Amino acid sequence: MIRPGTGFPTDKASGTTPVARDAADVVRLAGSAPSLAHLDARSSVCRACPRLVEWREEVAETKRAAYAADQYWGRPVTGFGVARPRVLVMGLAPAAHGGNRTGRIFTGDRSGDWLYAALHRAGLASQAASVDAHDGLTLIDTRVTLPVRCAPPANKPLPEERDACAPWLQRELGWVLPSVKAVVCLGSFGWQAFFDQLRALDLWSVRTPRFTHGAEVAVEEFTVLGCFHVSQQNTFTGRLTEPMLDAVFARAVELADRPAATK
Ligand code: SF4
Repeated sequence: MIRPGTGFPTDKASGTTPVARDAADVVRLAGSAPSLAHLDARSSVCRACPRLVEWREEVAETKRAAYAADQYWGRPVTGFGVARPRVLVMGLAPAAHGGNRTGRIFTGDRSGDWLYAALHRAGLASQAASVDAHDGLTLIDTRVTLPVRCAPPANKPLPEERDACAPWLQRELGWVLPSVKAVVCLGSFGWQAFFDQLRALDLWSVRTPRFTHGAEVAVEEFTVLGCFHVSQQNTFTGRLTEPMLDAVFARAVELADRPAATK
């Protein structure tokens, strides 16, 4: 595990960053964070969910054979990208040997290869490759975030873990949403979590609309777009293809009033 404040590129925490040890601490520390950078720092040292803390640290210790030489991040993964995005991408949770290894969301795994290549084709990322936190990738008018910040066993967080983590996302949304024009929710989990937060922020008052790939829902100044998750279950089976993903991001670019990418 990477210790806070030891110089890792995505690490905003230090040895004195306050640590949440239960759900009440998350509410308190998210609510009192004075800036997005402080929020990222605080959430990156969170220990509120015992099952997820144990799993993420065990994975970081035992490692996958292919990454035996890597020092795993082994901590919660925060949002990545600009602080005032026009496009927001909502994922699910870090992958055990992806974000939990590299310390950056959707980085170092096949899902990230798909996502960042699509963002690059859409003109929203500086490069297609997302290998590790040292690779120089930057996002353009875009932020990628997630409703559960620790890698869950079998990629399935429990409802109480989703709820415990929600205040980190809610506070982040409070800062970033004012500039957002398009929100791309990858999968039904992110879709539901996003509408839950809109309700908490008094931006949505009725039932969550049905998730479908290609769904569009207008909310205040932005539009929420549904997209199948870039998981290998979807990309390997052809349920989600590159043209399908490109069409969603082309629509996000249009809504964000950004120039379309030149091929
Ligand atoms: S899932 Fe969220 S609330 Fe739970 S330990 Fe990780 S960062 Fe904290």
